[in-house]
Amino acid sequence: MTNVDPIEVLLNGNKAWVKKSRAADPDVFKRLAQGQRPDYLFIGCSDSRVPANTLTGTGPGEMFVHRNIANQFFTHDLNCLSVLQFAVEVLDVKCVVVCGHYGCGGVKAAAGSHSYGVVDHWLGDVRSLAEQYRHRLEPLPEEDRHRRLVELSVISQVYNLSLTPILRHAWKKGRRPVVAGLVYDLEEGVLHKVVSGLSSPEHARLLLPGPEHTPMPSLVNDGAP
Ligand SMILES: [Zn+2]
Repeated sequence: MTNVDPIEVLLNGNKAWVKKSRAADPDVFKRLAQGQRPDYLFIGCSDSRVPANTLTGTGPGEMFVHRNIANQFFTHDLNCLSVLQFAVEVLDVKCVVVCGHYGCGGVKAAAGSHSYGVVDHWLGDVRSLAEQYRHRLEPLPEEDRHRRLVELSVISQVYNLSLTPILRHAWKKGRRPVVAGLVYDLEEGVLHKVVSGLSSPEHARLLLPGPEHTPMPSLVNDGAP
């Protein structure tokens, strides 16, 4: 059994990364130290398999990132709201992306009957969604049921974003950002579009399907009325 200090693993990885980054661009760190001007705010899951920069092929300075279990955005969460306000009003990002992922343990936990402690409270909104769409989800095979719930949750977070005075104020003044919802497929490594180009509360209102009769979300919904 090896006795490797886990911090040494990180420090060694960092040394190798610095060397590689400088070899590709000698001024990269000088430039990054001068400030950030990212085009995107990325709201994703804390899952270690869903690293924002890696799966989008972006580098340092290109994405402002907020992650939590099951990529939730609550209009009463000071953490989320602070990140959103800074991204929109100070960084002036072009696009806010909510990114969920298939195989999300948080979404599975919310749909199941086991109790996990504090996180059960955090996942209450996903549980409500599962309950709201129970008649539509229950007939589906287990994997499809999970995937639809992941997509519904992403749409729901996009809708929650549209309720914030931060975005409504920006949109009213004709300013960016647009909001998008994506889902990452862990098994394929591919991102899928669920919502894109959303830039008004009116569009957001039409996103969530009715619990009974309207079609469930497809993987591309431009948010257009
Ligand atoms: Zn997850």
